[in-house]
Amino acid sequence: MAEACVIVGANMAGASAAETLRRSGYAGAITLLGAEPELPYERPPLSKEWLRGSTPTAKLHPRDAAFYAEQRITLRTGTRAVALDTARQVLTLEDGSTLPWDHLVLATGTVPRTLNIPGADLPGIHLLRTLADGRAIQAELQAGRRLVVIGAGFIGAEMAASARSMGLTVTVLEVLPVPLRRVLGDELGQIYADLHRAHGVDMRLGTGVAAFMGDDRVTAVLTDQGERIACDLVVVGVGVRPATDWLADSGVALENGVLTDQYCATNIPGVVAAGDVANWWHPLYGTRMRLEHFDNALKQGAAAARTLLGQREEYVPIPYFWSDQYDVHMQYLGYAATWDRIIYRGDVVGYDGSVWYMRGDVPQAALLLNRQREMVTARRLLAARAAVDSTGLADPNHDLRTLLA
Ligand SMILES: Cc1cc2nc3c(=O)[nH]c(=O)nc-3n(C[C@H](O)[C@H](O)[C@H](O)COP(=O)(O)OP(=O)(O)OC[C@H]3O[C@@H](n4cnc5c(N)ncnc54)[C@H](O)[C@@H]3O)c2cc1C
Repeated sequence: MAEACVIVGANMAGASAAETLRRSGYAGAITLLGAEPELPYERPPLSKEWLRGSTPTAKLHPRDAAFYAEQRITLRTGTRAVALDTARQVLTLEDGSTLPWDHLVLATGTVPRTLNIPGADLPGIHLLRTLADGRAIQAELQAGRRLVVIGAGFIGAEMAASARSMGLTVTVLEVLPVPLRRVLGDELGQIYADLHRAHGVDMRLGTGVAAFMGDDRVTAVLTDQGERIACDLVVVGVGVRPATDWLADSGVALENGVLTDQYCATNIPGVVAAGDVANWWHPLYGTRMRLEHFDNALKQGAAAARTLLGQREEYVPIPYFWSDQYDVHMQYLGYAATWDRIIYRGDVVGYDGSVWYMRGDVPQAALLLNRQREMVTARRLLAARAAVDSTGLADPNHDLRTLLA
């Protein structure tokens, strides 16, 4: 009998794995299982142009249903896997049925964290992960309404920017002293705090949430400093966790996601993982990482599929993500868990420059603000992992390409 590959998680990483398998000649059956009732779709516009109504929903889907049929990929939406038996090579689905596999891709992504505080389940309080979440928020975004965003990570910051540009009154509560701190650090986080304030966001830093108030829907947020902020709706963006609960007893090694090696292979033969759920060994950086980036989901899905096809290629990308807030297009390349100094190039506080996170003279990561034109060279500089002339790097009139040598 021909082999069968089952992919759990029908979004970017899963769809990319399915497509790569088929295009690279996988002859067996391919089943793409997705808990959501949607065709695979791009989440990034959910906090940006789609939320503001300037992108139709149909444009979120890179492929239509006919594509999966043509590729002989059986797409089963609205179908959740609830257990995995790695010894018998069988999945159990939510309806109690089972599905055998010879190869398995784990691409279940992440689920948003929720707040366990009084009033957290009141109507009018939203998370933003899925298209369904986006639709519920979109229906509530009317100019003049008062939005409170909890958490100034990327989702919260983009949510605040979109709502401001739609004419809502926006308050952001963030327990840390600056927004986006975990990735950008304090200096750049401050630049983003200034950006939001310049657009009229009431940015309350160092402030947490103690409770939500209201009878039949949320009408106010109580801060941990005892202040009551009246509101019409709330969006909670306090991070995500890997969607691995269903794998707890499976024998698949888990730690901050599904553990894999540099080939995206798990500890179980024939089982690979990719996308937001995968915590993999990155040989270039000599560390494990689990990225929550669109670009990684696409590339790692394809890399995991290649491993199943027997092509032994290490997965060694230069991490990349972007964020759009107001008219600032940010691109972040590389990986810098720590750095010992930051080099500014160009007019960073005017949102037209780049920031280089350095260890000694070796750039670890680069943040480009409205500098798409420097992206290709920045990627090459980061991939080289070599010392650069930091005076030249700091000088915006010095061509970046000359630093490559
Ligand atoms: C609002 C928003 C904005 C974003 N903006 C950006 C951006 O600007 N730039 C950027 O780089 N990244 C951005 N991201 C992150 C990016 O969307 C993710 O990195 C990407 O979606 C990860 O893809 P994935 O396929 O690994 O996981 P997911 O997209 O999470 O897909 C996993 C799928 O698996 C399904 N699933 C889970 N468990 C099961 C199960 N047991 N059985 C069956 N199916 C299951 C889930 O329902 C889900 O559909 C954004 C994310 C959000 C939510």
